[in-house]
Amino acid sequence: MPERFSTSAPVDGGVVVVGAGLSGMTAARELIRAGLSVVVLEADDRIGGRVRGVPIGEGETVEIGGQYVGPDQDSILALADELGVGRYPAHMVGDHMHYTANGSIMRIVGGRDRASTYRFLGGAQRIAEGLAGELAGSIRLNSPVRRIIRSGDEVIAQTDTAAIRARRALVAIPPPFAAEIEFIPDVVRERAALAVRSHSTTQIKANIVYARPFWRANGLSGCVLSEQGQFRNIWDNTPASGRPGVLAGFITGDAAAALDDAGDAQLRRVIVDDLVRYFGEDAARPREVLFHRWRQEPWIQGCSGSLAHLGVTHPRTIRRPGRLVHWAGTETAECWQGHMDGAVSAGSRAAREIALVLGATAR
Ligand SMILES: Cc1cc2nc3c(=O)[nH]c(=O)nc-3n(C[C@H](O)[C@H](O)[C@H](O)COP(=O)(O)OP(=O)(O)OC[C@H]3O[C@@H](n4cnc5c(N)ncnc54)[C@H](O)[C@@H]3O)c2cc1C
Repeated sequence: MPERFSTSAPVDGGVVVVGAGLSGMTAARELIRAGLSVVVLEADDRIGGRVRGVPIGEGETVEIGGQYVGPDQDSILALADELGVGRYPAHMVGDHMHYTANGSIMRIVGGRDRASTYRFLGGAQRIAEGLAGELAGSIRLNSPVRRIIRSGDEVIAQTDTAAIRARRALVAIPPPFAAEIEFIPDVVRERAALAVRSHSTTQIKANIVYARPFWRANGLSGCVLSEQGQFRNIWDNTPASGRPGVLAGFITGDAAAALDDAGDAQLRRVIVDDLVRYFGEDAARPREVLFHRWRQEPWIQGCSGSLAHLGVTHPRTIRRPGRLVHWAGTETAECWQGHMDGAVSAGSRAAREIALVLGATAR
């Protein structure tokens, strides 16, 4: 082992978890409950990964990352229940608007899909905070894992300043980041090859805060699908209390790529101009325009999920354990990949794999 990694802190009988997103923290919680000792190494200076909230005044918080869940997403719903995080129906009352390429507006009867039925009271980040609260003392922030070495019956996970020895590693990070970890020996060649051939999608998520949800009084749901403009996919993101009013949406694809490096003032202008086109002058003076350029997050570099390139034909490879290394993260889920539910179920599945081989009591 190189000299600078010589300070090794053994995790006796335990597991080193890479990544403190929903997936890694769910796994860590279940491993601890199964009686194993765990260290979670998180690259960033905060927990939660793609789940994050920001305050918007009046005691409310809005999600700048994952937010919606659906009735079939058993894993995230059960976890939220256990952590005491309540949910409420996402606002879908009123007509949706379809803004066509030639500028005409069609009002269409509102509906909802099976993945965006509910939001969590106080935001989805409360689930991440709840998990982190139970893992106090086990999470090390600012600890990007650079290398995972198999040494006899142990693994050694190396960060820039520490080396953690454990009996198993559980890697719960998006595939493009897993591809950057050096595995010695390269026991997971097939998996690494797949990770290299994944990429993150670029989206900018914005929340625009108004004193009140003025569109509701006009019989509108706040949902817009537009064939023109740059801010084309919008919904009502007002908190359960009904104040302040919030419209949220994504800038995606070429528009996101073009605007990712634009100045904040330009981005704000683009967003508000498009909202005025859809909702009229009421939309012209928001209290705040909050946006998050997820591609610029050093340890996320994308948005909801990473996509496998064409030609990647073995989805199971992504979650098949290597020797002493197990895989979690939403991209490895059997269903609801790319969603918070997938992150939670994948974390549970990887924790069960490890508990089983280490003879611990899986839940
Ligand atoms: C804008 C946006 C909107 C979304 N909307 C929804 C939604 O409405 N509903 C829904 O269900 N889902 C949504 N999602 C997706 C959902 O948030 C994610 O699927 C889920 O949070 C992923 O969790 P994870 O633990 O698998 O990964 P992550 O949250 O990415 O966690 C991985 C963690 O690993 C860390 N890490 C990376 N590399 C290393 C390393 N080398 N060493 C140590 N740590 C490392 C990262 O910093 C991160 O904290 C959205 C996501 C975004 C960004």
